[in-house]
This record gives sequence, C-alpha cells and structure tokens, in this order.
Amino acid sequence: MALKTAQEYIDSLRTLKSDVWLFGEKIDNFVDHPIIRPSINAIAMTYKIAHEPEWQDLATTTSNLTGEKINRFSALFMSCDDMVKKVKMQRMLGQRTGCCFQRCVGMDAINAVYSTTFEIDEKHGTKYHERFKEWLKYIQQNDLCVQGAMTDVKGDRGVRPHLQEDPDMFVHVVEKRDDGIVIRGAKAHQTGSVNSHEMLIMPTLTMREGDEDYAVCCALPSDSPGVHFIYGRQSCDKRKLEEGDIDVGNFLFGGQEALTVLDDVFVPWDRVFMCGEVEFSNPVVERFAGNHRQSYGGCKPGIGDVLIGATVAMTEYNGVAKASHVRDKVAEMNHLVETLHACGLAACTQGEKTKAGNYQPDILMANVCKMNVTRYPYELCRLSEDLAGGALVTIPSEADLRSPEIGKYVSKYFKAKDVGAEERLRMLALINSMTFGLTAPSYRTESMHGAGSPQAMKVMIERQSNLDEKKKAARKLAGIDERENLAD
Ligand code: SF4
Ligand code: FE
Repeated sequence: MALKTAQEYIDSLRTLKSDVWLFGEKIDNFVDHPIIRPSINAIAMTYKIAHEPEWQDLATTTSNLTGEKINRFSALFMSCDDMVKKVKMQRMLGQRTGCCFQRCVGMDAINAVYSTTFEIDEKHGTKYHERFKEWLKYIQQNDLCVQGAMTDVKGDRGVRPHLQEDPDMFVHVVEKRDDGIVIRGAKAHQTGSVNSHEMLIMPTLTMREGDEDYAVCCALPSDSPGVHFIYGRQSCDKRKLEEGDIDVGNFLFGGQEALTVLDDVFVPWDRVFMCGEVEFSNPVVERFAGNHRQSYGGCKPGIGDVLIGATVAMTEYNGVAKASHVRDKVAEMNHLVETLHACGLAACTQGEKTKAGNYQPDILMANVCKMNVTRYPYELCRLSEDLAGGALVTIPSEADLRSPEIGKYVSKYFKAKDVGAEERLRMLALINSMTFGLTAPSYRTESMHGAGSPQAMKVMIERQSNLDEKKKAARKLAGIDERENLAD
C-alpha cells in the first residue's frame, strides 16, 4: 500500500503502543483525545491531498528508490523543481489547516541524512547509506509518517555535550552491542512526535573530538520500549475539553509538540546511520536546517493567507473594508506573506545537487527566509489584531451565545454588517486562536524558534554573505582599487 488515505493513517496510529503523557496522566487512547486529535487531523491532511486529483503533482511523486508513486512527504528532492513543489504544497496545506501540519520535519530530515550518509561512507568505508536507503524504502512503501528528532535539551549551553554535568543532556550512545546500540537522552519540543510512526534521530549541533558518543543518527519506531512522550501545553488547550466548537477557533486542526524521552532505547545496527563520526554532525545539522528553514517559506505564508482572509472578513463585518487605511494595512499583510514565500521559492530554485544525487536548497536564501519568518508573522498578527478590533479578547463564550436567558443579548449586540453574531464570534475566535490562542504557537513563538532561533540564522547569513567580495566591489567603485576598464 504505497499511498495511505487520511483514515488509514489515523487508524494506523491505533496500532502503536506509544507511551504518551498529558497533564500528569498516561493517555491510553491518544488518537481520540480531544486535545491531541486536532494535531492528528493536521497530519491526516498530508495523506488526504495525495488522493485529490488536483494536487497530484504537488502531493505525490515517483520514488527514485522503488519507481513507485509515493507521498512527497517521504520523498527525496531529486531536482530544484521537487523543492519548489514541496514549498508550494506546504503553502496549500497551511491554507487548508491554518496550523503546523508537522510532517515536513521528517521529510527534511530524510533528505539531510540521505546525502550525509553517502559522504560518511565515502570517507570511512561504512555502510550507512545502503542501510538508510533500505529503511527509507520501508517508509515509502508503507507511507509512514516520520518525525525528525534533532533538538536536544542541551543543559548548560556553554558546555560541550560530553562535558555536561549530567551526561544525558544530549542524546548519546550508552552501549554498543553486537546487534545494535542503546541510546539515552531526550529531544525537546518535538513536532508531530506522538503522531508519527517512526522517529529519525540526529545530532543537534556540531560535535567535536570527545563528543563521539553524541554523534549518533538512527531510526526507531515511535513506540519502541523506553520511549516516553510528555505532551506540550498550548495556550487555551483546555478549551478543547469544553462543549461546542466556537471558542476553540480552529476546531479541526492544530499543531503538536512533545518532550521525547529516550530511556535506554535499543536500536539495531541496520537502523544506525552515524555512530561516532563527529565531523559529519555539522553537515547533517546544516542540511536539515537549510531544508526546514526553506520549508517555512511554504507553511508560514499559507497560514498567513488564512489570517489575512479572517482579517478582511472582520473589516467587512465592521463595515470598514473600503477605508483607505484598512486597504493599506491589508496590502501590507499581503506584501509580508508574499515576501516569505518568495524567499522560500528562491532557496529552491538556487539549490544544488549533493554528492548522493538529491538536492539541497541555497543555504543563504533558506536562512534569509527563516530570518524573515522570525519577524513577519509577528507583524501580520499585529496588523490583524489592529484591524479585527479589541473584541478579539473580550467576546463572550459560546455558552453565553447558546444560553436561553442571555443568548438574545449576545445575538443582538454582536451582530454585524450583513452577518449574525455567531459568524462574527467564529471569525474572532479563529483570529484569537491564530494570534495568541490554540494554534498561535504555529504562528508566533514557533516562527521565532522552529527550525532554529534567530541567532542561528544570523550566524549562517554571516558565513554565507561573502563580505570580501562586497568590499572588493566597493573599493573598485570608490577608486581605491583599479576601476573597470571599459575598453577591455
Ligand atoms: Fe511543516 Fe511548517 Fe510545521 Fe515545520 S513549522 S513542520 S515546515 S508546517
Ligand atoms: Fe516547525
């Protein structure tokens, strides 16, 4: 079965024996839990689009490993055009879910590990690349969802992994056996971790001599013995436990992050793709970061499109849509989302082929894209809150609207131009959830720190900016160095 349907994906999660914790309690049926289910629905959309005729070109592709039709989320990028399609698919999914749909982390990790394992084998004569290809075929043939697990908890950030007071602050190998390795540690705020069938563990930063046990890359089923998920809280999450659907805003979809604890987890050798080759931790980190920073040029403009739509609707309800300052602010919002998307697309079209044959985005453009993402969604939220009005944070609850005693007052005093109170409350709740409520993590703090915090981008931008060439250009034009000779 190469292409699961959304329902088949949801049903497949029921077979997992994952150890999931929320509010201090073990959750036996995480699939139907009202706080977790929206995040499952968001990933389910990545399966649904693969069956929609109009999205075949974006959502599916042919595997270079098996020759079969597969979901793009488990594919290698075999051209710049593949990356363009990825980013366009992400924008469309952002528009349809209004939140983080989580599956991109695994896709971007797969591509980073594929090219890096090829280069490790080239240098060390190891067999990681062939192993990785076999594992990836299994993922593609079963259309599994993969979580890319990179971010360690890090402890004291001024201290190398092997010098930490507590050795488990970075995931590391605690035992090497004839049949495999045992790893220990924890991966922090892992996107889509509970909803994935498999996790692909990678180092979180450049490892150096002495850090060999920490230079580990491997894959394991997410319900492996010793794996524990502690579900992350989201603003207003308990609204999902209430009656009704208005106050949640984006009721059907949501993001998901969890602390993933790896408490002495066994991984057989055929699932180990790096073990001690410290010099290859940097390529895998940089390539994953490049891929995922480019991805933000897809999902974030897509979510921004929804926010713009909701904001414009609010200005119409309020009868101010034609005011020049309103149109100006909406134009500004559109400028911001298109700039985000343009940068993501630029990173794709300027990409390069790796030695392994798959493609990497342009590192400078990918980092500029993500740097913009650390800023523009905040400005989009500010403009949306400006135009939607203070009712965003003062509206009555759905229970008040439905109340036999006071519902008539809510209906009377919240009706708007051409629409009743319920429609207005729904749109306000959607903006509330996207700007600082339930799905806001996807658009605010997650825009800041997801795929790396802003300083990580600044470092990469500085490295890639070629200041010497820029200085040379200036010196020539200033006449300090010899000017161009047009007669040449
Ligand atoms: Fe995908 Fe965006 Fe979520 Fe990353 S933040 S997993 S790119 S939707
Ligand atoms: Fe993210």
